[in-house]
Amino acid sequence: MRLKDKVALITGAGRGIGEATALKFAKEGAKVVVCDIQLESAEQTAQKIKELGGEAVAVKVDVTKRDEVDGLIQKAIDEFGRLDILVNNAGITADAKFLKMAEEDFDKVVAVNLKGVYLCGQAAAKVMVKQGSGVILNASSVVGLYGNFGQTNYAATKFGVIGMTKTWAKELSPKGVRVNAVAPGFILTPMTEKMPEKVLNMMKDKAPIKRLGTPEDVANAYAFLASDEASFITGAVLSVDGGVVL
Ligand code: NAP
Repeated sequence: MRLKDKVALITGAGRGIGEATALKFAKEGAKVVVCDIQLESAEQTAQKIKELGGEAVAVKVDVTKRDEVDGLIQKAIDEFGRLDILVNNAGITADAKFLKMAEEDFDKVVAVNLKGVYLCGQAAAKVMVKQGSGVILNASSVVGLYGNFGQTNYAATKFGVIGMTKTWAKELSPKGVRVNAVAPGFILTPMTEKMPEKVLNMMKDKAPIKRLGTPEDVANAYAFLASDEASFITGAVLSVDGGVVL
């Protein structure tokens, strides 16, 4: 087991990629703090982990709120005594063409995808630096590398996540904390299921691997980056996209 006895906190872990990552980490031996804005979905993920024989605690947190985020980190420490891995997975979309994008939709996406990553990352890093060890993994996207039609707000945040990842890697790696990002392509989750079938088929055709990704494809990448097998990797952006941008 690659994450035996590590304590991992995953945001947005009530469904989709976050849920798959929580389950994968538990199978690899981690104790998991399952965070989501909806308590019920977080509890469902935690229950699945317990049914696998793992340890998990569910916490309701809105990652855009500093007091809730501070409480979340404290909960991890109270429950499991330390924090080894943070996966900044929670993210949202609110798509519109640039000329029609509403200011509130820009702000909403920035609040979750960018400020939420900053708040959780900073609170976790304080604990990890004190420990002298830790791993922070951030959810970017192929859209954060190449942009995407109709996603001005989302693209801005996913490019921004890469900027934070590289900056934190420079600041925190000398203190024992590795920081990396994952850039998934099109992964079938509740987030993408609402996209038109035509677009999803187009994405499938565009990928040399000729399929859409699964949440488990991304969870496997997170598990590798979180493990000691990646101990010389920091500041990297790992594409998990079936080659869609080649
Ligand atoms: P998802 O299915 O929509 O799941 C996201 C989870 O985050 C949901 O449970 C959601 O809760 C939760 N969440 C939303 N706002 C939150 C907040 N303020 N605080 C805490 N939790 C919150 O998304 P996904 O497709 O698994 O994507 C996960 C991450 O990967 C995101 O950062 C996304 O941008 C990134 N990504 C996804 C894809 C893809 O193709 N799916 C591709 C590239 C990158 P609710 O159910 O209440 O909304």
